[in-house]
Amino acid sequence: MKLRTFVQETFRHDYTCPLCGREKFDETPFCKRCETLFAEPRLFVCPKCGRRSVSEGLCSDCKHLPPAFTHCRSFADYEPPLSYAVIKMKFHNQPFLAAPLAQKLVDVWQKEGLAADGVCFIPLHEKRLKKRGYNQSELLARHFSEATGVPIVCALTKKKESKEQRTLSREARKKNLSNCFSADKKAVCGKTLLLIDDVITTGATLDEAAATLKKAGAVNVYCLAVCATPDPALKNLQKPKKSFLSRLFKRKGTK
Ligand SMILES: [Zn+2]
Ligand SMILES: [Zn+2]
Repeated sequence: MKLRTFVQETFRHDYTCPLCGREKFDETPFCKRCETLFAEPRLFVCPKCGRRSVSEGLCSDCKHLPPAFTHCRSFADYEPPLSYAVIKMKFHNQPFLAAPLAQKLVDVWQKEGLAADGVCFIPLHEKRLKKRGYNQSELLARHFSEATGVPIVCALTKKKESKEQRTLSREARKKNLSNCFSADKKAVCGKTLLLIDDVITTGATLDEAAATLKKAGAVNVYCLAVCATPDPALKNLQKPKKSFLSRLFKRKGTK
């Protein structure tokens, strides 16, 4: 083999984990160590919103306020280091992380064995899009579409900017988001759609967006998110050792 070809073959792939910066030895998106930390098994998952739950069956939020989507699935809990990956992608101008994270969505989708006519994403309000420069959910959806062949449907628009809702319950978020999306009827009528977002917290955003799509004529709306915040009732359960993880990621330059 010529030296040039050898060098090209050897360095064809990026052998650095985009999350912790450690060397990795294959083509998987993240290093083995990060992958192990992602894959904490979830004993009970709500069959509707896909969040880790305290027991079998619907979580308290879905029992109380059934969402408009058919169901939502997520790759893992919103816990470090996966949460760091999402934060870096979203707030620290690292949109390239959308590609490896979208691969996780593809894995979940293929495991579920479902089909959709198109893939939509949660839109950002124009102002926020200008400020950030990209929409992380759109990037995830575009990488997902490329990998699966499910066409992108840019059907949703965010009409009004919603208030900060990190501390709100699903009910309060639902009120806050009421009528904030609009959907292109022609693009969605009679279709089964997949709706993609980065994180599912209470499920209110996906719920409102799915309701908008259904009002516009969509038959079925499945949802997929990279990660999901566990049911608040699980707060007392053991969590990953954050102090260790914080040290690790601080050292690697996470702000
Ligand atoms: Zn890593
Ligand atoms: Zn639920």
